[in-house]
Amino acid sequence: MEPKKHQPKNADSRRALFLDRDGTLILDKHYLSDPAGVEIIPGVRDALQRASALGYQLFMLTNQSGIGRGLYTLDDALLVNARMETLLALHSPLFAGICIAPEAPDQPSLYRKPSPRYIQEMIAQHHLDPAQCAMVGDRASDTQAGLNAGVRAIAVCTGELTAEAWQTLALPGAEIHADLAAFVATLS
Ligand SMILES: [Mg+2]
Repeated sequence: MEPKKHQPKNADSRRALFLDRDGTLILDKHYLSDPAGVEIIPGVRDALQRASALGYQLFMLTNQSGIGRGLYTLDDALLVNARMETLLALHSPLFAGICIAPEAPDQPSLYRKPSPRYIQEMIAQHHLDPAQCAMVGDRASDTQAGLNAGVRAIAVCTGELTAEAWQTLALPGAEIHADLAAFVATLS
């Protein structure tokens, strides 16, 4: 039998978290292109470690319209991701998959959230169970992507919206948590 040493951790698991980046994992600096500006949101490192230990595969999907707007390049976004992973200092590769949607909102896009396409593709490719998957993010486009894909939609209050603002939006089906750590603490 082939050894599995090259498989990402939890590669056989059917549960997964789909994670937004800015405002969910790192502070949202708005069009961040400088790796030196990366700041991990408190509690995120331990939360990712705990989710991983519970068997959740981790995926990241991030809208980076700054690329489509010509403010920075895909390479800049990749360097920011790399800095984030360095600061987190968890297992490598940390993510089973990463999707960067580079388009501006007015440009055609297959993957820009709230599109469910990336989540749906990963569910199919990795044989995930949608009932054991969640999309976590700080904007309505994140929770809508999750709902569109048929997974749990988790709203966090570490970025664009406060708990009060989320409640005002009253998005049916979205669950509001203070931050990623508070949500992961509910998992077992
Ligand atoms: Mg965000």
